[in-house]
Amino acid sequence: MRIAIFSDIHANLEALDAVLADAESQSCDSYICLGDVVGYNASPAECLEKVKAMGCPVVKGNHDQDCGHDTSLEMMNPTAAEALLWTREQLNPEQRQWLARLRMVRQIHDFTVVHSTLDQPTSWNYVTNKFDAMANFSYQVTPVCFYGHTHVPRVFIRGSRVQEVPAESIVIEPDQKYFINTGSVGQPRDGDWRASYCIYDLDHNMVIFRRVEYDIKTAQKKIIDAGLPESLADRIEVGR
Ligand code: ZN
Repeated sequence: MRIAIFSDIHANLEALDAVLADAESQSCDSYICLGDVVGYNASPAECLEKVKAMGCPVVKGNHDQDCGHDTSLEMMNPTAAEALLWTREQLNPEQRQWLARLRMVRQIHDFTVVHSTLDQPTSWNYVTNKFDAMANFSYQVTPVCFYGHTHVPRVFIRGSRVQEVPAESIVIEPDQKYFINTGSVGQPRDGDWRASYCIYDLDHNMVIFRRVEYDIKTAQKKIIDAGLPESLADRIEVGR
């Protein structure tokens, strides 16, 4: 069994299509989405309908939460808030309800998925170093957990101590715990513009990191044409 695990699509349909095509070419037979289907980019309804139609497990991201509900966006940075207000207008009530009903944490086979972190999934904290990862590990009951939210691929391992290793293909060893960030499909922030996702090969106990080129020019043109902030079109090109 080869599962494609992807996060932070952020309404980038071109990136999502490229990831799904790559996953198919890599013989993936099932799919999991770690949330933030919408927000920032210009194709929220299309991305939502595509993920919904796949019928795969999905957990809720903070942008999904803010689009599903009429939460206050005061605390959000102004560009993200502007995109969220625009996104709410693009979605019909049924689509917003689908977002609102997503679960925070799910266990699939013998691993867990969450958007931000297991210790406080609704606080939307960012796990960017081993100290943040330690807090998560104390709540992680499965050997492997996948997460998103930071848009940066990372691998934390807890053996006798917690360490971060490069986000490259790894073998899952027994007696260790793994907290793995798949990176972002639609808005990577590690300086690489290409869409990021992971394949979990359960038969070989391997996690494989993938980077996929996509039609970024079309994604950028849609952002500009929609009247969204131009900085959102600029940032996907530099991967920040
Ligand atoms: Zn996100």
